[in-house]
Amino acid sequence: MKAAQFEQHEPETVEEAVSLLESLDDRAILAGGQSMVPMLRFRLAVPETVIDINQIDALDYLEEDNDWLRIGALARHADVEHADVIQEKYGSFADAAPLVADPQIRNRGTVAGAVAQADPKGDWGSVLLAHEGEVVAHGPDGERTIPADEFFLLPYDTTLDENELLTELRVPTPAAHEGSAYHKLKRKVGDYAMAGSAARLVLDDDGRIERAGIGLTAVDITNVRATDAEDHLEGERPGSDLFKRAGELAAEQSNPESDEHGDAGYKERMVNVLTQRALGDAAERAGLVKRRVTQ
Ligand SMILES: Cc1cc2nc3c(=O)[nH]c(=O)nc-3n(C[C@H](O)[C@H](O)[C@H](O)COP(=O)(O)OP(=O)(O)OC[C@H]3O[C@@H](n4cnc5c(N)ncnc54)[C@H](O)[C@@H]3O)c2cc1C
Repeated sequence: MKAAQFEQHEPETVEEAVSLLESLDDRAILAGGQSMVPMLRFRLAVPETVIDINQIDALDYLEEDNDWLRIGALARHADVEHADVIQEKYGSFADAAPLVADPQIRNRGTVAGAVAQADPKGDWGSVLLAHEGEVVAHGPDGERTIPADEFFLLPYDTTLDENELLTELRVPTPAAHEGSAYHKLKRKVGDYAMAGSAARLVLDDDGRIERAGIGLTAVDITNVRATDAEDHLEGERPGSDLFKRAGELAAEQSNPESDEHGDAGYKERMVNVLTQRALGDAAERAGLVKRRVTQ
């Protein structure tokens, strides 16, 4: 099937893109096109105008400053996968990137586009949640930041206004004793997750968990935080018994649906296992815990 006819604009600045969003009624943003192009071709989206943001060079970055790791809206999955700073300091991002789709999609698809798409099976939403990240949006009234916690509303629906462009994703730079990890179960290479769990642990100088973040993939109507498990972890010393209970709590709080890939009970058990594994790796990477906790 071919896409219906549409007009195409290629703005070169964020301001130009936002003004197009404001002035045109029936329009869609195109970034890497890995979700948008199939939607156009199958006529699931039939916009009059496509605003292709790929000429906005100012959005093509992945950088770290004192406070934040900043991922611009045109950074591709592959940029994250191959960035030295990611490999050195951001375990969950390094784990997740090569597990997203396949190399072709990772070369073209953007991390921001995947987050804007808000598919509950997407991996990056969970990573962003575990890191207590933020989404930066530009609209007619300027810039605003949205905590990842407040971004995802429903499958394919977010708190981004229709006249806003998502310009940046950001997460705090790691603390002295911080580690993170992502574990994902999928049937084969290239598939979306059946279940996934991102974990981030910040330890104090004494080795206790000061802050815990857990984001779950594909087991609710959006990417969600496993807040009961997080609460259970904070103030405690990392260890297999603690992580076992956290895995159980994450599974209890998840809400998966049965489908052709597995029943809900199986996916809940996977949340438990994947969360324990992610916590074990995160603790090890935080540097004060040497032994990997396995299940
Ligand atoms: C076969 C297949 C397998 C996949 N597997 C995985 C997987 O395992 N894990 C995973 O996480 N994802 C997976 N994906 C999804 C993939 O990550 C996304 O398709 C892609 O990265 C979306 O980014 P994009 O840049 O291609 O966005 P586009 O396709 O261009 O856009 C996607 C949506 O986001 C909107 N959008 C894009 N950028 C912005 C912006 N800056 N501001 C506001 N709105 C914007 C668009 O209007 C559109 O609605 C898979 C996709 C396919 C086709």
